Amino acid sequence: SDERLVGADSRPDDIETQFRPQVLEDFIGQKQVRENLSVFIQAAKSRGEALDHVMFFGPPGLGKTTLSQIVARELGVNFRATAGPVITKAGDLAALLTNLEKNDVLFIDEIHRLSPAVEEILYPAMEDFHLDLIIGEGPAARSVRIDLPPFTLVGATTRSGLITTPLRERFGIPLRMNFYEPDELKLIVARGARVLGLNLSEDGAIEIARRSRGTPRVAGRLLRRVRDFAAVAGADLVDAVKADAALNRLEVDKRGLDSMDRRYLGRIARDFGGGPVGVETLSAALSEPRDAIEDIIEPYLIQQGFLQRTPRGRMLTKAAFDHLGLAFPKTVSE
Ligand code: ADP
Repeated sequence: SDERLVGADSRPDDIETQFRPQVLEDFIGQKQVRENLSVFIQAAKSRGEALDHVMFFGPPGLGKTTLSQIVARELGVNFRATAGPVITKAGDLAALLTNLEKNDVLFIDEIHRLSPAVEEILYPAMEDFHLDLIIGEGPAARSVRIDLPPFTLVGATTRSGLITTPLRERFGIPLRMNFYEPDELKLIVARGARVLGLNLSEDGAIEIARRSRGTPRVAGRLLRRVRDFAAVAGADLVDAVKADAALNRLEVDKRGLDSMDRRYLGRIARDFGGGPVGVETLSAALSEPRDAIEDIIEPYLIQQGFLQRTPRGRMLTKAAFDHLGLAFPKTVSE
């Protein structure tokens, strides 16, 4: 939903494209991921070989696509992008793969959504750089082998649990992306403000960073909305007070939760006594797809210590009740 600031929509708009850092050195945060990538990129380049296949795991908006583009740029190769749900037939994937040049990067977003038939084509392509295609049907069917140039597959997924074992095992470089620290987001916000030509004070940047759900994409969206409020109010400097006022009007609270997050927590607190409650039940109660609940809403609430996933279902913590201003029921065990 476009309305939601932390929505799943990952189509980059103009501003997002403007915000994207271009080289590894300008990429803020994810220190360990960056350092590992830097070593592997140097090694592959010095050998003149394709970089080993890379898999990025982590919630939406953390920079998986951005880093993949940077990898291609640092390697000095072409970047081709697609997404799991877009590749419906084996032939779609074959067309992409046969168009690659030596050592190119092929990025597949939402790779957990590839169909099993397409995934199977991918195994020999990743392992030995060839395709085994069946041409024709019935007795006339025959298998043809097509050699591919060496390439790097970069996969991204929000759901590590949905990647099949054979696929997972074919990625030599698995990398986990984490939510960003407030001081990292502060740098990202400050950089975004410069790109937008917005006069933002340091405490203004800190305020937006603290309320960005640990996510650069959210930081960028909040920054643009804050800029709109400032423009309408005729303010030439946005400080923490002005940022706070704008964020309150956007219904983003002090911990960065938006109205959807609070609706989710409020439901469990009020209708399910704090849990445990199953995700399917919550999905029906909130009229939200299960995917959105698991990929977007829950990871941040868990990281913030508001929610626990237990074998019996989701449970709120005391901190969640406190945040909602509700009494903690004695029946809920921490
Ligand atoms: P993902 O692929 O994980 O959903 P993207 O790579 O599309 O995320 O990033 C979302 C937005 O956040 C983009 O505008 C991108 O430029 C910005 N962004 C992500 N990570 C960073 C970062 N480390 N520094 C600055 N901007 C970032």
